[in-house]
Amino acid sequence: MDLLAKLATTAERHARMKFLGGDAVGVVNEKLISPTRALIDGRETILAGTNNYMGITFDAECIAAGQKALAEFGTGTTGSRIANGSFALHKQLETEFATFLDRKHCIVFTTGYQANLGMMSGLAGSRDTIYLDADSHSSIYDGCTLSGAKLVRFRHNDAADLDKRLTRGEEDGGGKLVVLEGIYSMMGDRAPLADFIEVKKKHGFQLLVDEAHSFGVLGPHGRGLADEAGLEKEVDFVVGTFSKSVGAIGGFGAGDHPYFEYLRYAMRPYMFTASSSPASIATSLAAIRKLAAEPQRRKKLAENSARLFHGFKDLGLELGCDVVSPVVAVRCPDEPLTISMWGALLKAGVYVNIALPPGTPNKLCLLRCSVSAAHSDAEIDRIIELFGAVVAQGHGKKVANG
Ligand code: PMP
Repeated sequence: MDLLAKLATTAERHARMKFLGGDAVGVVNEKLISPTRALIDGRETILAGTNNYMGITFDAECIAAGQKALAEFGTGTTGSRIANGSFALHKQLETEFATFLDRKHCIVFTTGYQANLGMMSGLAGSRDTIYLDADSHSSIYDGCTLSGAKLVRFRHNDAADLDKRLTRGEEDGGGKLVVLEGIYSMMGDRAPLADFIEVKKKHGFQLLVDEAHSFGVLGPHGRGLADEAGLEKEVDFVVGTFSKSVGAIGGFGAGDHPYFEYLRYAMRPYMFTASSSPASIATSLAAIRKLAAEPQRRKKLAENSARLFHGFKDLGLELGCDVVSPVVAVRCPDEPLTISMWGALLKAGVYVNIALPPGTPNKLCLLRCSVSAAHSDAEIDRIIELFGAVVAQGHGKKVANG
């Protein structure tokens, strides 16, 4: 039996995608021109699907910090922090970042994916129950599987449904961890945090919020949804990534629990993988300092997000959610139309993400845009114009409401 035979349907689906609109899952950026522009298929293209929310990837000070760390600490760490020890840079980032987050403790991971894997599996074990929002990111689901905890899914953003399921599970014993996201990565909507905290008061679970898409974006300090809602003290654990607003690579978990530091010895995705490279750590630290010092980036991102959101609304496009967010998802009627529209947009000069089932909530087909503070008004207007043109050409006629 050929183990790869099961990939035949994937191969067929991929071939169909290439025929209908192009290789939407194999795009190559031949050259990066700026945080918002790249050369793709030899054409200068506006990037509207990078999660580069702060547009910080080409910041001169961040690049210099990465180069200095490369020269001083070398290209890699060549091992895990448990086996090989930490570099001073890891410690410096954790200390400074904990202060930025207003948390007692912070643990840095090699990626955001590993941060969720580590935190879920470190916090919960086989006697515990993890309550997940149905639309949770795959890293949260995978972390749950790794933990061996009982998994209970509640309806997306539905605190009453969580309440019902917690009541049902009262006799289960063990600890209870509820996991939410600040901004949901596909639709751009936010968790109604205050409603969930009411349920927390009633049932007494521990709460973790993944601020991957909201860190740097929301709140007076840029710490995310809980910061914006003034509810950080009600959130026990925060997880996030350095791959979006921070423009580097890495992840973090943070909290105030007196045993938090001992999670380092209970998280396989922290213990059994090499720690982040000196350049990544130094770049992340420089970027976080920058985000703290330059709140105007957040303001510009909010303005750009509103410009794209309202521009799309004016075209009559049906969007992922009704609130302005740097994640602006356009709902499309079916897979072939989504692919052909994606291909037409790329040829016209704008790159967006394609999101298809099973990777989307409710089997939706989406063209997902992410806005950057570095987009100029002209770039945002061009994205809107190109979506309008592609819909008008018939690639996505049924996409528009009107
Ligand atoms: N959590 C969420 C909500 C995400 O969207 C992502 C990545 N898209 C991650 C975690 C993982 O982060 P990273 O890509 O940095 O590993």
